[in-house]
Amino acid sequence: MTEVLLKIDNFSVRYGQLEVVHDVSFDVLEGQVTCLIGANGAGKSTTLNALAGHHSASSGTAAYAGKQIQLYRPHRIAKERIALVPEGRRVFSSLSTLQNLKMGAFPVRGGWRSPGDLAEVFALFPELEKVRDTQAGLLSGGQQQMLAIGRALMSRPRLLILDEPSMGLAPLLVDRIFETLNALKGTGVTILLAEQNARLALRLADRAYVLELGHVVEHGSAGELRDSSRVGEIYLGG
Ligand code: ATP
Repeated sequence: MTEVLLKIDNFSVRYGQLEVVHDVSFDVLEGQVTCLIGANGAGKSTTLNALAGHHSASSGTAAYAGKQIQLYRPHRIAKERIALVPEGRRVFSSLSTLQNLKMGAFPVRGGWRSPGDLAEVFALFPELEKVRDTQAGLLSGGQQQMLAIGRALMSRPRLLILDEPSMGLAPLLVDRIFETLNALKGTGVTILLAEQNARLALRLADRAYVLELGHVVEHGSAGELRDSSRVGEIYLGG
């Protein structure tokens, strides 16, 4: 049976007095793609950022590979081989593509690991090799998204978390990114993805959870959610 790698139980997250994520629970199974689907403002980023240690959950637990990680700060999260590709990519714009990728390897040993990782990233994204010496701030949105994913992969994550990788990209580039995520799926890395584009997400995901106003309102296998009338009407355009 597939193991649960990450189990979130009753996560609630606040900004000041305002709770925006309420008692959210979900499981991420090892080797699978799990997706949080929801409209703008549903609480996807808040959940992922709390999980990655960038924000504290006000209650709830996160069990990951036998450890309770809900109080871990980002550097400890990185040491657990959890990598977050944040919304809006946030590459280091004054550094080159190559320097950004090397920064991705940093959490692993406190330094540059092995050049093998770089070759793997360039094999996944040949586009990045062509711009390896270009400042990241000068790259297109699609190249920056590839770079953000490549940088995360440089830490050889066991759990790769991606926040809205399709955001702001032209459809062809979105397809390109999702093809790569699909290719990664068979390599053993576990993926947790937040995505507004339910059609795309359900093509890639094994399981998904629908978030509305900070609550999980539905969950199931990708097939079950594609067949759900609520998901069909609200997220797949009827
Ligand atoms: P998006 O795709 O827009 O990022 P999302 O599902 O990721 O949507 P969140 O960004 O997590 O949603 O936002 C959840 C709620 O929290 C929204 O109502 C949002 O306005 C609010 N929110 C987000 N960031 C903050 C903040 N720094 N301070 C106060 N409220 C915030």
